[in-house]
Amino acid sequence: MKGRVRYKVVGIIFAVFLLFFVAAKSLYDYQISKIMMSELSQNQRFIDESLDSLIAQKRNMIEALAITFSRDISLQSMLEKGAINNRWQNKIKQLTRELAKKTVYKHIWIQVLDKNGISLSRSWSNKHGDDLSKTRKDVASILQNPRSLSVFSVGKFALSFKYIVPVKDDQGKLIGLVDVIGHLNSIDKALYKSVGVSSVILALPKFKKQLVNAPQDRFLEDAFIANTDVLPEEKALIKKIGLSHIFSMDGFEVVDGQFVLVKPLLDLRGNEMAVWVALKPMDAFSLKDAHTFKNIYILVVIFIFLLLVFTFIVIYMRYQVALEKKFFYQFFNEATEVICIIDNYKIINANKAFYKLFDDIKNMDQFYKKYDCLLDFLTPESTDLMKEKNAAYWVDSLLQKAKPEMFTLNTTHGDALFSVKATSIKSYFGGMYTVLFMNDVTAEVKYAKQLEELVDRDELTGCYNRHYFNQELDASLNRVQRYQQSISLIMFDIDFFKKVNDEFGHDIGDKTLIDTTKLVQAQLRDSDRLCRIGGEEFIILLPETDLDGAILLADRIRVVIEESVLPYLKRSITISSGITLMTQWDNSQTVYKRVDTALYRAKDKGRNRVEVAE
Ligand code: GH3
Ligand code: MG
Ligand code: MG
Repeated sequence: MKGRVRYKVVGIIFAVFLLFFVAAKSLYDYQISKIMMSELSQNQRFIDESLDSLIAQKRNMIEALAITFSRDISLQSMLEKGAINNRWQNKIKQLTRELAKKTVYKHIWIQVLDKNGISLSRSWSNKHGDDLSKTRKDVASILQNPRSLSVFSVGKFALSFKYIVPVKDDQGKLIGLVDVIGHLNSIDKALYKSVGVSSVILALPKFKKQLVNAPQDRFLEDAFIANTDVLPEEKALIKKIGLSHIFSMDGFEVVDGQFVLVKPLLDLRGNEMAVWVALKPMDAFSLKDAHTFKNIYILVVIFIFLLLVFTFIVIYMRYQVALEKKFFYQFFNEATEVICIIDNYKIINANKAFYKLFDDIKNMDQFYKKYDCLLDFLTPESTDLMKEKNAAYWVDSLLQKAKPEMFTLNTTHGDALFSVKATSIKSYFGGMYTVLFMNDVTAEVKYAKQLEELVDRDELTGCYNRHYFNQELDASLNRVQRYQQSISLIMFDIDFFKKVNDEFGHDIGDKTLIDTTKLVQAQLRDSDRLCRIGGEEFIILLPETDLDGAILLADRIRVVIEESVLPYLKRSITISSGITLMTQWDNSQTVYKRVDTALYRAKDKGRNRVEVAE
C-alpha cells in the first residue's frame, strides 16, 4: 500500500472503532440509567413503605397511650377540678423514662390541657399555664370540634408527631385534652436499622418563629431539623442541593453518589409542613440488575470489538491477496507469449496475447461462439501430431513432449509459426489444468533459415559452398548406398584464370567467376547442386544422373562457356572438367580424389575438355 492510502485506511479504521466505542458508551449510559432508575424506584417504594409502616406503628402506640390516659379516672377528676397534682405529674415523668429505657419509644412526651387549651402539665418540662389554642392549630381545631386527632405538627419545642384525644366527663362534656407527642428520632433510627437509610427531617422555614423553645443548633438555615443525629456531611449535602429544591421535591435524585429521597409530611389540612429526607450512599444499594447488565454488556462489547478486529484483519488479508493476484495477473496478461489455461480440453482463460491473434474476439464466450477449438486454426508441423486431429490427443501428446512443438497458426493476420509447449498445474482445489505456452517464432525461424543459407552459400557467386558440398557429398553417398541411386559428379576449373586476373585485375576476375556460375547454373536442373569448392574450382552434384548423362551435361556446359563472349574480356573463357559416378564402395575421399584426378587429366590433355574418371 502506498503511504497516503495507508494513512487513509488507518484513519477509516480508527474512525470506525471510535464510532463503535462512542455508540457503545451512549447505549450503555442510556440502558444503565434506565435500569438503575427502575431499580432505584423499587428501592424508593420499599423505603416509602417502610417509613409509612414505622409511622403507622408509632401512631398506633401513641394512640393507645393517649386513649388509655384519656380514660384514666383520676385524670378525669383532676381535670374537672382544673388542676393536675404533682404526684400525677411525677408518675407521668417516670412512665416516659421507663418507656425510654425499656422500649424503642425513647422520646414520648405527654401533655394535659384543660378544656380551654391551657397547658396543665408537661412530662418533659415544668412549664405550664400557657394557652396553646393560640399557637397550635390542632389544639384550636379540637376545641372547636372535639375528636381524636393524629397529626404532624410544629409546636414551640419541636416538630413532632402527635395524637390528641378529648377527655370527657360522664355526661360527655369536654373537660380537657390529652396530647401524646412522639418524636421522630425513633422512626429515623428504626428506618436506618431496617432499610439502611439515614434521615434528615426538616420543617418548613415558615415555622421558625413558632419554634421559640427549640435549640438554635438544630436549624439548617431557617429549617428546623426534627431528628437529633444528623451528621455534618448530611447537612452539607442538603445545603448543596438547596433547601428550596428539597422542599419542592417529591421523589428521589442521585447527588454526589448519594440517593436522596424526599417525602413530604402533611399537616392537618393536607398542606406540606415538613419533608422527610432519606439518604443512602449509592454504593450501599446492591443494584443487581445494573451489575448483571454491566457485566454482560462489557462481554458483548469485547466480543463485537474482537469481531471487528477480526473482520478488519480478514478484509486486509483479502485485499493483500487480491493485490497479489492482480500483480501476477499483470504478468500473465503482459506476457508476449500466448498463454491458454485449459480445463478438460477446453480453454477457460487466456491472456491478452491470445486475443491479439484475433481482431474480433474479446473473451472466451466469443471465441467458442466462433470456433470449436484451437485446432480450427492450428496445424501441427510434425507428422505424429498430424495423424489425429483431436484436441485431447494433441494436449496429451504435448504434455508428454520435452521440447516445444511447431504449429502453423492461421490467423486473420496470415500464417504464423508457433512453438507450443504444455505443462500441467494443480489448482488450489485439487483440479488439474493444462497450460499452453505458444510462442510466435515466425521471425526467428525466418532468420534461422537466412542464417542457414548464409552458412551454405558462397558469398561471391551465390552458389553453394564447400561446407555445403561436404555435407551433401556425405548425404549423397548415403543415398547411393541405401537406395542405389545414380549420382554423378562434375568437377571443373577455369583455364588460365590467373591470366584474367593479371590482365584485367581482380575485380574483373570476380565478375568472370560470377558470370561463369550463372552460365553453368542455367544448364542445371533444380535438383542439381553447383558448389564452389575453391578459387575458380567448382563441383556439380547430379542426383539421379548416370555417367552418360553427366558427360552430356559437362560437354554442354563446356560448349556454352566456350561460346559465351564476356564483354569486359572481349572474349570467352574455357573450362576443363572431370567426371565420375559414385559407387556404393565409395567414401568422400575416394570420390573426390577420382574426380580431381579426372579434372587434372583434362588439364594435362590440353584444357577445354571433359575427362571421365577411370
Ligand atoms: P590452369 O589452367 O592450370 O588452371 O591455370 P590457372 O591460371 O587457372 O592456374 P590456377 O588454377 O593454379 O590458378 C588459379 C588462380 O585463380 C589463382 C588466383 O589468382 C585466381 N583466383 C582464385 N580465386 C580467385 C577469386 O576469388 N577471385 C579472383 N579474381 N581470382 C581468383
Ligand atoms: Mg584454373
Ligand atoms: Mg585452379
